[in-house]
Amino acid sequence: MSERFSFQAETKRLLDLVIHSIYTNKEIFLRELISNASDAIDKLRLLSLTDSKLTFQNGEIWILADKDKRTLSIIDNGIGMNKDDLINHIGTIAKSGTSEFLAKISENKANNIAELIGQFGVGFYSAFMVSDKVEVITKKAGENVAYKWESYGEGEYTISEVEKENNGTEVKLYLKPVDEENGIEDYTDEWVISKIVKKYSDFIQYPIKTYVEDKEKKTKEEKILNSMKPIWRKSSSEIGSQELEEFYKHISHDWNKPLKHILYKAEGTLEFYSLLFIPSKAPFDFYFQGYKGGLSLYVKKVLIAESYEDLLPKYLRFVKGVVESSDLSLNISRETLQNDRIIVQIRKNLTKKVLDSLFELLEQDRENYLNFWKEFGNALKEGIISDVDNRNKLISLLLFESTNSDSKLTTFKEYLGRMKEDQKEIYFIASESRVIAENSPHLELLKQKGYEVIFLLNPIDEVMIQYIPEFEGKKIKVIGRGKLDIESEDFKERKKEVEKKSKEMKDFLSFISKELENQIKEARFSENLISAPCCLVGEEYDISPSLEKYLKKENPLFTSSKRILELNPFHPVIQKMYEKYRSNSSEESLKDYCELLLDYSLLSEGQPVNDPVKFNKIFANLMEKGL
Ligand code: ADP
Repeated sequence: MSERFSFQAETKRLLDLVIHSIYTNKEIFLRELISNASDAIDKLRLLSLTDSKLTFQNGEIWILADKDKRTLSIIDNGIGMNKDDLINHIGTIAKSGTSEFLAKISENKANNIAELIGQFGVGFYSAFMVSDKVEVITKKAGENVAYKWESYGEGEYTISEVEKENNGTEVKLYLKPVDEENGIEDYTDEWVISKIVKKYSDFIQYPIKTYVEDKEKKTKEEKILNSMKPIWRKSSSEIGSQELEEFYKHISHDWNKPLKHILYKAEGTLEFYSLLFIPSKAPFDFYFQGYKGGLSLYVKKVLIAESYEDLLPKYLRFVKGVVESSDLSLNISRETLQNDRIIVQIRKNLTKKVLDSLFELLEQDRENYLNFWKEFGNALKEGIISDVDNRNKLISLLLFESTNSDSKLTTFKEYLGRMKEDQKEIYFIASESRVIAENSPHLELLKQKGYEVIFLLNPIDEVMIQYIPEFEGKKIKVIGRGKLDIESEDFKERKKEVEKKSKEMKDFLSFISKELENQIKEARFSENLISAPCCLVGEEYDISPSLEKYLKKENPLFTSSKRILELNPFHPVIQKMYEKYRSNSSEESLKDYCELLLDYSLLSEGQPVNDPVKFNKIFANLMEKGL
């Protein structure tokens, strides 16, 4: 009796893409199935450590071909699957955001398929690139009933009970006819199988066996196709680049080449092997809340955890790789592992290693570092906030856009190299967009002095910068907050004059403050404005309007704080207003002008005016008078 099931909608769509794919590198199906077989053996091996009912002897993977029937079986003696597993793991894609992603990848392009399969770890489905029909015959370790799953990849599959002696899984492919032009070789051929295994799966730690025919003796002999040596235990010179890439794909399910690898063996009091990778592309869900990173942790060659998160701080969750330690105990639980002295030590070492490698990349290969930065830069910014011990290292890895036109992104150090002799602070401006920042009145004075200003264009930039009070003795200054510390004769002169004006026009400033009291903290004169009549600033520890807007979106209860309206006492608009005020302080139009000053300031930083209807009315009125 077989039961009929429909694939979940997403799976159907995926299968459709895979089956009709023009992707020619079809041989990778074998890599994917071997990879699954190896994972299944890992799982059984690990469970058998804690579950006395399960026994594990030796893991092995068999590849058996039948030339006449044109079938190919990949057989493992791993954990196996029961009926629920088959339904939940083979017919369903549980990853969040799948539908959105599938909708995006609607065109059937070869590299899209690669990315698609990679992003979802849907390796099993690649079997349908080379098969008309796939059967999975499987029995879960510790259970009595075995099942057969069958599908032509066309929307439906069936499950029935079958006889099977041992635990484990056989994936049986009914191969499509050989079609070299479309990338389908004869996968029943020993030589072809052997070539593919060597190319993609050499490092798999269980023997991958097949039978080869001895033509003279007319017998079939068992042969192991892979070398089985753990790649992370090899020395750099022993590892080929293809081998490295294939291993990366095996552990990461990412089909893009990694950007960089780090092979590191710790010696001394703490000993461990590690092979880490920096991916070249962020997974589509990387910046989602629930994204899980983690490294594979081996203890004495046994895989203890596949994505173990405590081996690196959270902000380095983009790093993939393997760690093997012989100092840890095999049957340690996850909870105790977390606080294990050795884990803490490994984590410290690895963090340093990763940051050093990134620094090396920055110094030696800027182009690739820019690529890294585009994908994972925001994760490093999280590190500035959370990793006090490595903060200085992380600061040197940061890149920013700035007013300096000849380099698009700059490091702190490069900025320092361009600083003017009399410049005392490193300047930043927070804004939603570069254009608004560039034209901000806040920038005027600094531009005139030739001081470079760094743009903080992402909400996290501004939060992060609060954790960096200074760099190499230079204070960090976010402009638009508090006072600027500029030390030059002309600036001091200007300051004095502004102070004088503030005293002289005290009543006028109070008048404006009073008029706008519901919207601003106060009105005051500033020495920082040149061509603009006014702008809004915060206090030293206030946040910028762009961050405020972001926080409001996240939390509607967030209340904004009032800011200060800074006026340019030398600007004709301010001077004329003052004259009008002196001749008749109760003149009605003065109130309108106060409103306009505020709206002007808001617009210049890309904010909406408070009351657009009123703004329009005043504006039309003024135009009429002026015309
Ligand atoms: P992934 O391996 O990335 O999870 P696959 O589509 O290749 O994606 O496999 C889906 C799931 O099916 C696996 O996670 C595993 O639970 C199960 N599975 C696949 N092959 C086997 C196997 N040989 N033995 C046991 N379980 C398997």
